[in-house]
Amino acid sequence: MPANMNVNCPACNSVVEADVEQIIEVQRQPQLKQALLSGQLNRIQCRACGASNVLVTPLLYHDADNEVLLAFVPPELNLQGTQRDQVVGELLKELTGRIPKEDFRGYMFQPGQVLTMQGLIEQVLEGDGVTKDMLETQRQRVDLLGRMTQADPKRLRSLVRKHDAEIDAIFFQAALALMQQAVQEGQEPLVKALAAVQEAAAKHSSFGRQLTAQAEEQDRIVKDVAGRLQALGEKPTRKDILALLLALASDEPRLQALVGLVRPALDYPFFQELSLQIGRSPVAERPQLETLRERLGELTREADAQAQAALQRSAGVLQAIVASPDTDRAIRENLSLMDESFMAVLAGNIREAESRLDIQASSKLKSIHQKIVNLMRQQMRPELRFVNELLEAPDDSAALAMLEKGAQNFGAALLPALSAVAAMLRQQGQETLARRLDVLHKAASDGEDGKIS
Ligand SMILES: [Zn+2]
Repeated sequence: MPANMNVNCPACNSVVEADVEQIIEVQRQPQLKQALLSGQLNRIQCRACGASNVLVTPLLYHDADNEVLLAFVPPELNLQGTQRDQVVGELLKELTGRIPKEDFRGYMFQPGQVLTMQGLIEQVLEGDGVTKDMLETQRQRVDLLGRMTQADPKRLRSLVRKHDAEIDAIFFQAALALMQQAVQEGQEPLVKALAAVQEAAAKHSSFGRQLTAQAEEQDRIVKDVAGRLQALGEKPTRKDILALLLALASDEPRLQALVGLVRPALDYPFFQELSLQIGRSPVAERPQLETLRERLGELTREADAQAQAALQRSAGVLQAIVASPDTDRAIRENLSLMDESFMAVLAGNIREAESRLDIQASSKLKSIHQKIVNLMRQQMRPELRFVNELLEAPDDSAALAMLEKGAQNFGAALLPALSAVAAMLRQQGQETLARRLDVLHKAASDGEDGKIS
């Protein structure tokens, strides 16, 4: 439970009412751990001056699965010796009060002490298997990115070549994270600069070229497999699909792509039919079919486990939001976790509550849904909303028509938004959608040139 406190804004000294979290229990409230790691925990916005600051407060961090218990008393509080012990002792009492006696473990009586917020975050990450070296590498990549976004665009190519060895998966991950943040905050010049850096890194670094080639190859594979699937007609039978699977059996990348496309068809009757066919086949052909059956079993289990894990995580987040006394705040803190899987879980829960005729639950869930949609819209700049609509258009020509009609409403902001989102999609391996934006970008810049001349 957060404590409701009155605190002074460090910028203007106004009194701000704030819900302060002092105990982070990872298993109970995973969103608080996320908030801690992203610097959002106890971030308070002053109503008077708008300043946003992280409140200086003692924290107790508990991860029961990994038996980690850490206490952080900020040095700014100037607490010494017994005062300090007393503050930690009180938090510890509150925490252990929630834990059943039979679950007590020795480590719970001796929290590890960390001296700085950075130290706390490092130890938390270390518990997740992220070492100091990895963090240091990440910091260097973020530094490099910072320097590159400020560099003269004409120098980007040579900068990328010079730092070729540092342009790796961590570099692209950091670029993607910064990009998402900049897009959300509407920092257009930074979005534009990051898009240019990503483009240069993808084109001119060894790793980037490899990544681009892989994405293009993957795109070709999916298109090829989708084409073969389409050639089977509107409603392919189990036999047709099995024949296609067999034809691709020794081509692992295509086999994986096909399983991804036809997962619902690979049900129990399908495997039964496959087993029957194995039984009927000449002995010499059986091993090949058996290998395929085994591999298909593995691939479908992997796909299901991934989907299941995503659903469980989303269900946990939803539970935390429903249980939170401050829904708006819980939604804000978890906004980064609200992906497709989360929205599907939320929609499923609404349907389920409606079918039980539980008006109270369904209206609460619906209001959560509405708040999320509103918040996401608010956080999105108008030109990004428009780019999203363009991506949702049924095909490229429909998107082009929408662009022609709507482009003049956004002026010069549209082109950088198109290239930024294209770069982001490319990073996520969504080559087809990224290409659509390239086409739109070209159309929009041609239109712009036309007006100028
Ligand atoms: Zn203030």
